[in-house]
Amino acid sequence: MTTRTLVRGGIVFSVDPDVGELPRGDVLVEDDRIVAVGESLPVQDAQVVDATNRIVMPGLVDTHRHLWQSCLRQLAVDWTLGQYFEHMLLGLGPRFTPEDVYAGTFLGAIEALDAGITTIMDWAHIMRSPDHADEAVRALRESGVRAVFGYGNPLPPPAEWYRKDVIRVAEQSFSSTGDLLTFAVASNGPEFGPMEDTLVDLELARHLGVRASMHIGVGLLGRQRSVTELNRLGLLGPDLIYIHCNACTDAEFGMIADSGGHVSISPRIEMQMGHGYPVTGRLLDAGIQPGLSVDIVSGVGGSLFAEMRGTLEAERGRRNSDALSRGEALSELGITARDVVRMATIEGARTLGLDDRIGSLTPGKQADLILLDIDLPNLSLVNNLPAAVVLADNHNVDTVFIAGRPVKVAGRIVGHDMRAVQRLARSSRDRLLAGWSGPGYGGSFRRF
Ligand SMILES: [Zn+2]
Repeated sequence: MTTRTLVRGGIVFSVDPDVGELPRGDVLVEDDRIVAVGESLPVQDAQVVDATNRIVMPGLVDTHRHLWQSCLRQLAVDWTLGQYFEHMLLGLGPRFTPEDVYAGTFLGAIEALDAGITTIMDWAHIMRSPDHADEAVRALRESGVRAVFGYGNPLPPPAEWYRKDVIRVAEQSFSSTGDLLTFAVASNGPEFGPMEDTLVDLELARHLGVRASMHIGVGLLGRQRSVTELNRLGLLGPDLIYIHCNACTDAEFGMIADSGGHVSISPRIEMQMGHGYPVTGRLLDAGIQPGLSVDIVSGVGGSLFAEMRGTLEAERGRRNSDALSRGEALSELGITARDVVRMATIEGARTLGLDDRIGSLTPGKQADLILLDIDLPNLSLVNNLPAAVVLADNHNVDTVFIAGRPVKVAGRIVGHDMRAVQRLARSSRDRLLAGWSGPGYGGSFRRF
């Protein structure tokens, strides 16, 4: 039997130019899909969700996050990239058991749902055994989030079972179409491992017909012109996602654009840790619309609203600073709130290769939608719809649907015992940090 849900009377921000924005509109959902968006839809037999004083928009898309670190939130908040490598990847990473990967991934996925992020790419470079991979996939599946599972190898060299296990997990757990979970290869790439390993990863991804993603142009490592080298080897393509790209040249952005490649940026963590200055405007100039990403909740909070603001602030800071250094003042800012809302929705979907299914409120697409509460003081009165979204916070996320199924209702996660999630996270955190001391820890930091 078909389940019909009518989300009625909200401010509809479709992020689809053909559907537009409606001051008072309805979204009709049948089972897992959006079937109509319009004013006063004549529907009798649907369950009604009252969207009065709500912004109704597509779910947000986070194109790169290491969910396994979710139980270690805040730890890296004052760290540089070097400290992060030393203490997180080399220090704490090897402590992770499959149970810890489950706990972190599950908490992180619930955190995403709560924040209106309906799709997330889990960049899971913590697969220390096949069991680690199985637990990560189980956590994503049990959470109810829509996710791209990026199978990643912690550090080079990859274990002898690695290649075989990538294929096992891809074929065993990701074979059905219409699944909320899809598969990708999270490659260390040529800056975090030898080029030969990258070639193996790309061959694997292409054999499986999935996206491959890699961190590129990161800090001093980014000086080696990896994109130029990959281009020389004829390896660029529309199936690649390049993360950060701070140290890439404009010529390399031209190569990425010409090959139809995609870029995921995380401006807040890039500015903190020393990846280099965020490249948002340079990407736009090259014709590349990036997707946004939080990267690590151990360093920054898990809000894509904050990431939208960080993206705008960094790019505007660069443009204003450049103009002032020329003795000029900008007559207009050139990048808008609307631009970053698109990056957090449809462009993120495009980055992950899911734009035919999600990213906008378009009839025929999956019913991944969120309702933002504008009854709260921070959004009372909307004078600029994209700006209201950018200036929203997670507490404005009132209701969340994924594939037509409610996962958050009236400000509360449904279907999960939050106390149990917290207990699981706490015991994993206590195990991981037992006897550990890193910079800032044991001094200003204490466990609570
Ligand atoms: Zn990352």
